[in-house]
Amino acid sequence: MSIFDRFLPKRKPVEIKNNIPKEKENLRKTFGVYCNKHHGTKSGKLCPKCTALLATVMTKINRCPYGITKPICDRCEIQCFGEKQTKEFMEIMKSSGTGMFLRHPIMAFKHKMASLSVDYSKNEMEKRQREKEKAKEKNAKEKAKAREKAEKNK
Ligand code: SF4
Ligand SMILES: [Zn+2]
Repeated sequence: MSIFDRFLPKRKPVEIKNNIPKEKENLRKTFGVYCNKHHGTKSGKLCPKCTALLATVMTKINRCPYGITKPICDRCEIQCFGEKQTKEFMEIMKSSGTGMFLRHPIMAFKHKMASLSVDYSKNEMEKRQREKEKAKEKNAKEKAKAREKAEKNK
């Protein structure tokens, strides 16, 4: 730390927002919309099957290895609910999209934005990985050419 550091503006630490409570609320609502439509329940109430699945999802979220930096579960690569439950969960998330936009538009909009942001970061990461691989290949080719040239000049 230099003497000038005390005169420089202090850098704020990056704040990580905890979006888990909002995600849980969104999931409760989404399950409600789905269950009302497909299992004949009323006003956001859940049937025993959906209640059990939601309980599993909530438990897994509480133990999520990503902690508060977690992506939204329907965009997660690990999908830790188990094969059958993950399938059922994804089905609920997919088929409640329109219902959520009609009944809880702001929440649905925010969830959509979160999905797009996860997709965007994933694409960017993949793009960077591809670029790295291309640069590596190019480098290897250039090295091989240089070696060939050097051998010819011997
Ligand atoms: S699905 Fe992914 S984000 Fe959701 S709780 Fe499991 S590990 Fe965490
Ligand atoms: Zn149900």
